[in-house]
Amino acid sequence: MASTETVFERLRPEIGQMPVIDSHEHTRSERERIETPPGPDQLGYLGCDLCAAGASWRESEALENAADDPVAAHDVILKYWPVIRTTGYGRSIERTLRGVFGIERLDRQSYDELATGLRDGITGGSYEHWFRDKYNIRAVVLDVDGDEDYSPLFFRGLRHATFFVLCDSRHELEELERRTDSSIHSAAQMRDAMWSYLERLTKEKPGVVALKNNLAYNRSIAFERTTLAGADRAFNLLFADKYARHAQSWIPSHHRSYDELAALQNFLVHESVRFAEEHKLVYQFHTGLQAGYTNRITDSRPTHLINLVSEYHKVKFVLFHGGFPYGREWGVMGKNFPNVYLDLCWMHIISPSTTVRMLDEWLDYVPSNKIFGFGGDLKLVESIYGHLEMARDNIARALARKVSRGDYDTATALSIARRILFDNPNDVFGLGIEAPLS
Ligand SMILES: [Zn+2]
Repeated sequence: MASTETVFERLRPEIGQMPVIDSHEHTRSERERIETPPGPDQLGYLGCDLCAAGASWRESEALENAADDPVAAHDVILKYWPVIRTTGYGRSIERTLRGVFGIERLDRQSYDELATGLRDGITGGSYEHWFRDKYNIRAVVLDVDGDEDYSPLFFRGLRHATFFVLCDSRHELEELERRTDSSIHSAAQMRDAMWSYLERLTKEKPGVVALKNNLAYNRSIAFERTTLAGADRAFNLLFADKYARHAQSWIPSHHRSYDELAALQNFLVHESVRFAEEHKLVYQFHTGLQAGYTNRITDSRPTHLINLVSEYHKVKFVLFHGGFPYGREWGVMGKNFPNVYLDLCWMHIISPSTTVRMLDEWLDYVPSNKIFGFGGDLKLVESIYGHLEMARDNIARALARKVSRGDYDTATALSIARRILFDNPNDVFGLGIEAPLS
């Protein structure tokens, strides 16, 4: 029997040639890139690990203000780089430094080369070259707030229902009324405003294929059923302040707590899923690790979603990020529910070794049409390089384990790689992209 390493060497070049549908990116538009070029501080998830490593408030501020004071940001990054270059995030950045910028080691001198490369790297129309030629990415599902134009390579998931769900004060309600050009005085009117707003975006923006729910950043993703009456009682709390208030008032807006507003939030989330059902959109869910630091990981457990995905069984739910660290729960969601799909976006660099071990395991109990193999989850097109190379490594390593044990033959392993990298997201999102002839 061939060793795992020998099989890996055989599979990896083949997997490297396969076309990819990138299921999740936050790619900044070309215009924005040209008008406000990023600095090295925006590469990958550098900031998260820097804070985890113990950067002080002042140091993380320096990173936030990198555009105004690049030298201060540069000092902070180089100070922490030795201890963060070894994580999955750090290694994907190193891979990008080598593969895109020809930089072997990040130090004072190469930092300046990197800054120049990032500043001058993107020109009008260059994304086609980056995605198609360099990465062999044939379509991208974007998650961006802005109204920027993107080429037909890009499809969209809309995260705009979040504005309604997280509205917790009169001030924000007034913002919503402005945004939606409507008058909102009850939970039902709030639902209607959300509905027509999403409807307008779905029509106006090209290539909308999904709604995105990222509430795991703000609250638990357990969304209990509620009634319109319960939602209305919570809605009324937005008006329960002692003093009348309007946008120009000097009286500060009172923010209601999650406990006070849960019924309204849950009602609106259910309504957003119903919207997805009616408009035949996929519903993407953030599960598992939240970017940043100090967030509450238990809010993001994939099994919190059992009620929702079983009630709305006609909606295709895509659960993100390997549900890390709840990988087994996440896998079982894909096994138990025909309408639940599992997206490995971001997972490959959160922990490459967990991804290899778990993909080996998931393939034992999850049918191979349920897994999406790659989503970069990145703002800068350059950062995708390191992430995608690591994803191809991880997929080849997991499949090499299967082949070397005799679970799969090589042809089966390669067909699974093709499916998870291209066919599954293409089919589930209904993109209709023709696979290039190989
Ligand atoms: Zn994301």
